Amino acid sequence: MASTVFERQAPPPSAVAHSLEKSRRGVFWLHDLGPRAQHPRLTADTQADLVVVGGGYCGLWTALLAKQRDPGRSVILLEAKTVGWAASGRNGGFVAASLTHGSSNGEARFPNELATLDRLGLENLDAIERTVRELGLDCHFERSGGLDVATEPYQVEWLREAAAADPSAQLVEGDALRALVDSPTYLAALRDAHTTALVHPAKLAVELARAAIEAGVEIFEDTRVTALDTDGDGVQVRTPDGSVRAENVALATNVYPSLLARNRLMTVPVYDYVLMTEPLTDAQLTSIGWSGREGIGDSANQFHYYRLSADNRILWGGYDAVYYPGGKVRSRYEKRPKSFERLAAHFLTTFPQLEDIRFSHRWAGAIDTCSRFCAFYGTARKGRVAYAAGFTGLGVGATRFAGDVMLDLLSGEPTERTELEMVKSLPIPFPPEPLATIGIQATRWSLDRADHNDGKRNLLLKAMDAVGLGFDS
Ligand SMILES: Cc1cc2nc3c(=O)[nH]c(=O)nc-3n(C[C@H](O)[C@H](O)[C@H](O)COP(=O)(O)OP(=O)(O)OC[C@H]3O[C@@H](n4cnc5c(N)ncnc54)[C@H](O)[C@@H]3O)c2cc1C
Repeated sequence: MASTVFERQAPPPSAVAHSLEKSRRGVFWLHDLGPRAQHPRLTADTQADLVVVGGGYCGLWTALLAKQRDPGRSVILLEAKTVGWAASGRNGGFVAASLTHGSSNGEARFPNELATLDRLGLENLDAIERTVRELGLDCHFERSGGLDVATEPYQVEWLREAAAADPSAQLVEGDALRALVDSPTYLAALRDAHTTALVHPAKLAVELARAAIEAGVEIFEDTRVTALDTDGDGVQVRTPDGSVRAENVALATNVYPSLLARNRLMTVPVYDYVLMTEPLTDAQLTSIGWSGREGIGDSANQFHYYRLSADNRILWGGYDAVYYPGGKVRSRYEKRPKSFERLAAHFLTTFPQLEDIRFSHRWAGAIDTCSRFCAFYGTARKGRVAYAAGFTGLGVGATRFAGDVMLDLLSGEPTERTELEMVKSLPIPFPPEPLATIGIQATRWSLDRADHNDGKRNLLLKAMDAVGLGFDS
């Protein structure tokens, strides 16, 4: 099998060890928040027109949009821990316009509505930018665009085809590419100026919470919802020390066990690992260029994503996407030295100019992977409960759209969004254990082989493509 550039040009183990030596385990973004607003725990029985479960972006957008649509509606948000502690506070901060986890996934799954989905996705990203500006959300929002880079010759062909199909994207090669970002591993890049923005993820979460409170939403933290009991005229939302009688409920619980039994096999947690460097010096920054501050991803199945922070650190994540047998979310899975060493090695291969770099933080998070790689939506309990989950690693932007979809569904009135095939259809559930582990490990192995074999997919991947099943991070 062919080797990848990361194997051919691997740095010495001592350089990797040096780069990680001083890194601390913890999420840079959460450490960087400083003092933040605390919200009380629910300790009484109360009522609301709408209860939102989950204080990540999906729940926060849903609560805020609900108040913006109807300021008279009473809205309560219940969060098991603290606002933004989970995926929303620890992600890469890429805000993508895509609602379908990229256009090739959208094309494969919803070919008849891809143009509509692309338009709605761009409108959603524009609306996020507008909200950030109008509500003064301090979250380091930068509409800096994206670069999809090829590090192997077969990927250049993929980018060429993508450039031919998309007039807004531009193929960049040779000196022009080096002038954008200087890495000896780059063979070509697809540049898109409009469809990606970057944020400070944890600040976006706490600022959305601030805006929601200012709009009149009540937020309770340290309040885990344990059950939803439905009767004729409402839903009783149960928590350990109190309950809320609600007309409607929106579930935004992401990768955590769904409060609806029917959704338990719809997603699996896949662990994604991240490193953050110390701030680059001016000389280090000059050595790599990157003055456009684009969000960058490479084109392999197992891909890296990376970006600059406001204080010129480099966040470097991805590649390993690890599913642990049993499919549970556990903080012990966040420690995986092998993944951090691999990430550091690939970083040093990509930017050999930064051989003296030190990583200051390392962390991981669980991604809510579903078999179609993009969110699914629906209602339960006679239309009183709506849900959205399955963002599969591309939910920073798409969660706002999901909030709109859930509110549309709860209103009972058809809209352009609720009529989408993407909204009406559901992904194929994962099989129960141990079949899930066997299937997912076989798929991971096949994706790794494809990355070592000019991107060629084996029979298992082709069969899964044919039935619309997949595994991704
Ligand atoms: C390492 C990593 C990097 C990523 N990078 C990117 C990226 O660059 N761009 C991108 O678009 N996406 C990225 N993602 C994915 C993105 O972060 C998620 O899709 C998005 O944050 C999902 O938001 P959410 O609100 O659905 O989930 P979460 O942020 O996970 O929030 C769900 C909340 O629900 C709460 N909850 C669960 N059950 C209950 C209950 N019973 N009662 C009360 N509360 C409950 C949880 O405590 C949690 O706070 C990344 C994810 C990870 C882990």
